[in-house]
Amino acid sequence: MKASALVLAAAAFWAVTATIVVIFLLGDDTPDCTPAPTTGSGSSVLVADAQPAPGPAVPFGTKVWPVEPGKYVISDVFGARGGTHMGVDLAAPEGTPIYAAMDGVVRESGPASGFGDWIVIDSNDNGAPVGTVYGHMYESGLLVHAGDPVKAGQQIATVGTNGQSTGPHLHFEVYVDGGRLTGGRAIDPVPWLNGASTPSSGGGAPAAPAPVCASTPGGGGDNLQPGKVPPDFEPWYRKAGALCPQISSSLLAAQGRQEGGWSPDGGANVTALSSTGAQGPAQFMPGTWSSWGTPVDDQGNPSGPPGTGDVHKPSDAIMAQGRFMCHIASAIDGWIAEGKVTWSGDRRVLYLAGYNAGEGAVLASGGFPTGHSDYEVQTRPYADNILAMEPEYRALA
Ligand SMILES: [Zn+2]
Repeated sequence: MKASALVLAAAAFWAVTATIVVIFLLGDDTPDCTPAPTTGSGSSVLVADAQPAPGPAVPFGTKVWPVEPGKYVISDVFGARGGTHMGVDLAAPEGTPIYAAMDGVVRESGPASGFGDWIVIDSNDNGAPVGTVYGHMYESGLLVHAGDPVKAGQQIATVGTNGQSTGPHLHFEVYVDGGRLTGGRAIDPVPWLNGASTPSSGGGAPAAPAPVCASTPGGGGDNLQPGKVPPDFEPWYRKAGALCPQISSSLLAAQGRQEGGWSPDGGANVTALSSTGAQGPAQFMPGTWSSWGTPVDDQGNPSGPPGTGDVHKPSDAIMAQGRFMCHIASAIDGWIAEGKVTWSGDRRVLYLAGYNAGEGAVLASGGFPTGHSDYEVQTRPYADNILAMEPEYRALA
């Protein structure tokens, strides 16, 4: 592993890696290694939706996925586009059912600037006002009217691509401390949906718990689906994905997407500089870059000493990201073998936690980092969201 030659400047390494930060704080409890459970065929879901089947009473505050898990891919995340994207985009074919995420009352149902047609629902989450917004539907896809009461899991619309939209998807927003039109504050919908029920259950049954992935799906290697990242990034994710068996190019690409260094429309935001000082496509902090950043040759091999590359250049940044991730994976695998870290699930969760929080935090906790709220509100969603996106970058088998 080429990274081994670069571990020389490791003294300050754990300290500085702890300062790597992410721009977006995201989460998703959908594991990438298992198809989401679906109950019944698509058609039975459609039939059941207009009037959800009578089932167990929906507990107060129950949340339901607005699109059935397994029927969408996350095509853009909360906070994207320079912080202006106030929701999550769930890409799904036109006509896919959209469900009310909570019991509530429809506040708006009709045209809205940029949204095509939208639906705004005001809800009450165990005493706290909450709002949900559903966008890009066509008028013909609206199944509820302003003033209608709705139940969690009730179909309210179908997916469209109306308004400022480049393809069929549900744009879904969540507001807390008020609704969308009543002074609420937008939050990342994905962690909010953590533990939500599947709509086909009628909202009464919790979604199946995330199965444990015992292996490392995808493994390492160049498994990148062509055309999924900007052209000047693609060869480097391919080369970096070949550095070690634990870290694939699809994982690195999903991580790059999460870090916000480029956007899926091909716009490479290589000069991204977060408020915390993280830089470039892999969001390296300067201290970490001084240990891991190097210029690279055409093959991606380091061609200079650590700290001398260009953190904004896709080649240098992505190869450093790959070397760093491989180093973390190797260290964590060693700790697991030695019994210092206990983990029976997908090890990529720990590798990503090591990138986000510092591998020392994994070692100190003997597993996923604990003992600081940042690990719950930032590191865990960071890892979960990358693993949720990773299959989207994987070449079709
Ligand atoms: Zn959107």
